[in-house]
Parts: sequence; structure tokens; C-alpha cells
Amino acid sequence: MSAKEFNHVFGPVPSRRLGRSLGVDLVAYKTCSYDCVYCQLGRTTCKTTDRKEYVPVSEVLREVERKIESNVQADFITLSGSGEPTLHAGCGEIIQGIKKMTQIPVAVLTNGSLLWDPSVREDLLSADLVIPSLDAGESEIFIEVNQPDPSIDFNRMINGLIDFGASFKGQVWLEVFLLGGMTALEDEATKIAAQVQKIHLDRIQLNTVARPPAYDKALAVPEAEMSRLAKLFGDKAEVVADFGGVHEDKDFSVRREDVLDLLERRPCTLDDVSISLGIHRNEAVKHLNNLLKQSVVTAEQMGGKLFYVCSRR
Ligand code: SF4
Repeated sequence: MSAKEFNHVFGPVPSRRLGRSLGVDLVAYKTCSYDCVYCQLGRTTCKTTDRKEYVPVSEVLREVERKIESNVQADFITLSGSGEPTLHAGCGEIIQGIKKMTQIPVAVLTNGSLLWDPSVREDLLSADLVIPSLDAGESEIFIEVNQPDPSIDFNRMINGLIDFGASFKGQVWLEVFLLGGMTALEDEATKIAAQVQKIHLDRIQLNTVARPPAYDKALAVPEAEMSRLAKLFGDKAEVVADFGGVHEDKDFSVRREDVLDLLERRPCTLDDVSISLGIHRNEAVKHLNNLLKQSVVTAEQMGGKLFYVCSRR
């Protein structure tokens, strides 16, 4: 069964936090309520807070079922992918449907922007793990970093996180993405930590830029600085940024050499790699990141687009 036979399910892809993660994509590419400057998938093309059935629930569940029947080895089934999964009005039905099929735990990666809405909180109740984001301690920085849909108010977003943490019975791991010169400053990080204190959660995971971001102003924070800032967040905090590790070939559905062969023929954008090899953008991102770390590929801006160029020719 080739990866191309699946439109909504991808992987499993290796994830530092989730092990082997089988991805479930519920919205079209870059449909999101945010346009984060650090987004590794590129700039948001459809910024919205409209909840609707972006892809048919029955199609998604059928694909997950086929994957499970193929004896897929996964540590988590993760609602993530090309944008914000809670925009899908059927995400609760999808989580419950998956839970009926398998013992594999279900995780949701969400930006948390819609958790103020009781129906979104209710939809997530059947998940085992929810990983929401909080990248700013005040409205002005929130707008700068996350570039949210204008209808999203910072305080309402924070209250949504607080209400969700208080009612959810599974694990909550909050991701805080820190950026050089913007939020990786003592006073800004302290403001974020003060907001985080209000939220009932199990872990605080600090991340920073490790892959080419959507906007050049998103700057990485050095590992030592991340460790220093983590202390502001207390003993539930850990640094999860991908500073060094390279995922192994066996963890991917296509091989490193397949990606390199393609890049040897011509420089490619992330989309080119994804379409040419029939893999999800999230898997292509991880491959390209590995190759960047191994210095066999460089990332170069050409005509306003980011191209990956093979340097072993
Ligand atoms: S990082 Fe996540 S929340 Fe931010 S723009 Fe990208 S997909 Fe949306």
C-alpha cells in the first residue's frame, strides 16, 4: 500500500516527543487560525476561525482503519499536519472513532486558539494527550509572533487554556516556542511563565527554531540559553528543541537516498519534495532537516521561495 493511497493519514513519522507518530491531517494545507512567524510549513494561506467539516469524517476514519489493519507500528495517532486540527468541526467524532478502533493513544497538536469555545474543549475530551501552544505573555507579542486571525483575543485565548486544563482528564503538555530577540528575553519569558502558572498541565516543553521558518525574523535560540530560560518555568519544564539528533532512515516511509536523488536532479521546495515523493509535508520537513544537519543540503532563498539544494554533487 503506497503512501499516495492516503489523503489524510501520513507516516508514521519519527517524533522526538511522541516516538513513532501516525499523523492525521484534518484541514487543507496551511488552513490555520494563526500565521506563526516560526511555522515550519510555510505561511498561512487560509487564515480562519471557521469550524467546519474540511474533509469528510468518514473518509478520515476509513483511512485510519486501513492503516491499523495494515498493522502499523505507532506510539501515537496524532491529529496534526497541515494546519490547525480543531478547526475541523468533526474532530471530536474522529477522536472517538479512532478510540473505538485501537488501543494506540490519540494525541492532538493544537495552537489552542479555539479552546475558549466549549464545543472545542468537549471535542478534545476523548483524546489521551493534548499539546497546545502558548508563545507570548501579552497581547502585543502574541500578535507579532502568532499573527492570529483578528477575531482571536489574547485574554480569551488564555482563559480557554485555563478552562481546558481544568476540565481535561488526559495529559496536557504545553509547548512554548521561544524566539531570539522576541520572546527569548528574560522579561518576555517571565511574562509567559506567569501565564503558564495559571494553567493546569503536566509538562511544559520549550522549543525554538530548528528548521527554516516561514518568516526570516524568527530566530533560533542557542541550547544553553534555552536551558537557562527553562528555569523560569519551574520543574515541569524541559527543552525539546531538536538541536542535534538525526532520525534514522527506518523511521520514514521513504529513504534518505530518495530525497537526495531528487535534490541532485534539481533544487526543490518543500512542496516539490512532498509531491514528487508522495509523502506528507511533515515527513518531507523531517527528512530535509536531517539532510541540513548532515550538511549535504543547503536551504537557499530564490525568487521569494525557499529551495533545498544538494551540495554533494
Ligand atoms: S505553527 Fe502551527 S499554529 Fe502556527 S501557523 Fe504553523 S500550523 Fe498554524
